[in-house]
Amino acid sequence: MPNFNNIEITIFDENQNEITGVADIDFEVYCGTCGKGLCNQSHGRVSEKRKQPQVVVEACPSCIKEKDSEIERYSDENDKLLDEICDLKEKIENIKDEYEEEISQLKDKIYELENKL
Ligand SMILES: [Zn+2]
Repeated sequence: MPNFNNIEITIFDENQNEITGVADIDFEVYCGTCGKGLCNQSHGRVSEKRKQPQVVVEACPSCIKEKDSEIERYSDENDKLLDEICDLKEKIENIKDEYEEEISQLKDKIYELENKL
């Protein structure tokens, strides 16, 4: 469990007298996304310049795993879409070739007909 050691705490008693003491504080850390405990991925420290208590939390391994599988799923989907695009481009090229041939034949017919006139 992460903790802060020797944290200076100031409180006020009922007469508003300031009481200062030092305490060790243990705390728990949970992932805000999936809710799993992150105590083993967290530790407390004190900032170098301002000497403020800080918590360093590594990325949640459970969420990273989830995102990795999402990336893999989207990557597979992306590959399928790229294959589909490739197929469609090929179909378009085939259709274009067919029409070009038909247009060429029609032009020949027009030429023939014009010559008959
Ligand atoms: Zn998480």
